[in-house]
Amino acid sequence: MSEKGLLIVVSGPSGVGKGTLCNALVKNIDNLFISISATTRPPRTGEVNGVNYIFMNQENFEEKIEEGQFLEWAKVYNNYYGTPKEFVIEKLKEGKDVILEIDIQGAAQVKKNCPNGVFVFIAPPSLEELRKRIINRGTDNEESINLRLKSAKEEMRASFDYDYVIINDDLDKAVLKLQSVILAERCKVSRN
Ligand code: 5GP
Repeated sequence: MSEKGLLIVVSGPSGVGKGTLCNALVKNIDNLFISISATTRPPRTGEVNGVNYIFMNQENFEEKIEEGQFLEWAKVYNNYYGTPKEFVIEKLKEGKDVILEIDIQGAAQVKKNCPNGVFVFIAPPSLEELRKRIINRGTDNEESINLRLKSAKEEMRASFDYDYVIINDDLDKAVLKLQSVILAERCKVSRN
């Protein structure tokens, strides 16, 4: 894609705080939008369709895959997740920057199609701390927690393929670091 805006891909294990980080970030930076993903995962308590995710059934999701409506998609923890293409392309064309908060499989697909993107990996201070955060979030049962922790170990290895790694040990500091990355990338002369 040769669009005008910056595509920022934020990845990292589930529960590391990507969502909190990105939500804090868009309040501090102008012209920055978070892409809302589609998923077949059922909504958690408090999640709102069209705000947290676009919730859909498997049949609808597979139809959209066929129609080429996703910039990337992946099966994560037995559910489909994908980035609707239209919103992202529209914003980038307008010169606005877009954040994708996606898993590492999705990030690898985006890297192939949009190598000029900025790839940021958010890491937990430790796997033990990640376990505590997922438990404290109170949204996952034991099976889901164990699955997320097992994947986290593999996901951590992928961090080497990213442009930046930010350890989320302190939310304010992590927000500041991510903000600095984006502001610096906006000033970059060449993206080759
Ligand atoms: P959760 O179910 O905890 O909201 O998300 C599970 C994982 O799916 C997280 O790592 C999250 O970043 C990832 N995810 C959310 N949306 C997308 C998406 O559109 N594409 C991909 N590939 N992963 C996503």
